[in-house]
Amino acid sequence: MASSASGPRAVELHIQPDMCPDNVCEVADLYTLGRLAADEERNFEDHYLTCPNCARAVQLAHEFVVAIRLAGEGRLGRSR
Ligand SMILES: [Zn+2]
Repeated sequence: MASSASGPRAVELHIQPDMCPDNVCEVADLYTLGRLAADEERNFEDHYLTCPNCARAVQLAHEFVVAIRLAGEGRLGRSR
């Protein structure tokens, strides 16, 4: 019994809509997982819609998360 599901926690990274975050990959991951604070999420959304670099990071993060989730579901689906 080691489940540590404490719910999604908002992460504040001080993202600004007119510049790339320092850690684009991490921000993209958190954004895809819905763990950014509401303000940060909106700022990053505004930003990556006009920034191909960050838009690509979001796309990669999304594909990664989907793959992880599918793998997880596959494992849960089968009884060990
Ligand atoms: Zn950017």
